[in-house]
Amino acid sequence: MSSAETLSEFALIERFFRPLSAESAFLRCGIGDDCAVLAPAVGEELLLSVDTLVESVHFPEHYPAEALARRALAVCVSDLAAAGASPRAFTLTLTAPQLDEVWLAGFSATLAAEAARYGMALAGGDTTRGPLCITLQVMGVAPRGAALLRSGAKLGDRIYVSGTLGDARAALAVLDVNEPDADQQQWLRRYHQPEPRLALGQALRGIASAAIDISDGLAADLGHILRCSGVGATVRLASLPLSAALAGHPSALDYALSGGDDYELCFTAPPQHAAAIAALAETLQLPLSYIGDIAAEPGLRCIDAQGGDYCPAAGYQHF
Ligand code: ADP
Ligand code: MG
Repeated sequence: MSSAETLSEFALIERFFRPLSAESAFLRCGIGDDCAVLAPAVGEELLLSVDTLVESVHFPEHYPAEALARRALAVCVSDLAAAGASPRAFTLTLTAPQLDEVWLAGFSATLAAEAARYGMALAGGDTTRGPLCITLQVMGVAPRGAALLRSGAKLGDRIYVSGTLGDARAALAVLDVNEPDADQQQWLRRYHQPEPRLALGQALRGIASAAIDISDGLAADLGHILRCSGVGATVRLASLPLSAALAGHPSALDYALSGGDDYELCFTAPPQHAAAIAALAETLQLPLSYIGDIAAEPGLRCIDAQGGDYCPAAGYQHF
């Protein structure tokens, strides 16, 4: 920022962001100093993830500030969920063409409400001028050695996904529809208001052998588990969980297999945990579908309802 704007920049941080920075046992020192000071408890590990959302790439132009705050934090917190972490704090780097007070009021109010819901404090950040872009870095904790990684899948493990897949991909085609029908409203809700599966991730510590959140599509994200774990997999298309709103869509299976933005969890677990996983689905009131198995041969094999091979479309890639 130019020096002429320095005062208002600091005043805005004080007014809109400082209230989100309540100090706690974890956040010993938040906004207003050179560094935030974080204090994980003895026996805990600190888990960290960062995500950038760029206007016109990750969200449309003129996207409401409230929706942006909710979605940006949810998408980022989803990485903590995938790792089995409990959220604690986050930083915010805000790049904007101008410091618009109405926009900032809406953005910070939603950010405050959502952060409180996840149990997170704002530890600090940076504010710069440029095309609208938001970088959130989230921090969580897990007991030492308990974090879920992508690299633990073993031959014979079962593959599960939470919730339903494909709705957020279906929403992309109806973002501009004026009066969406009931099905379209459900797809749009899944796109605009993803729900990070935090309770599931934390409950899977000690049960799942590997986990990932589905941001780029099941085929692509399961592919990361397979590569990191040095294994392959077979997935049964008939077992992919579809919402009632998507089931009749002609591209339902492709969306479920290759569409991103659902932020469900995909995880693997040895067969002896099947009963614990069924019980967890009951407790959390969240479907946990057994969709396939880890195999020795590298790569992902998809089997359609007739038992034939099916080739998934590629997941979203930026470059
Ligand atoms: P420095 O010049 O030391 O990097 P800054 O002027 O960038 O400090 O920031 C001053 C304080 O305000 C720091 O504590 C920083 O973490 C915080 N801060 C700046 N921008 C933001 C933001 N967008 N959200 C939250 N905290 C912010
Ligand atoms: Mg700075």
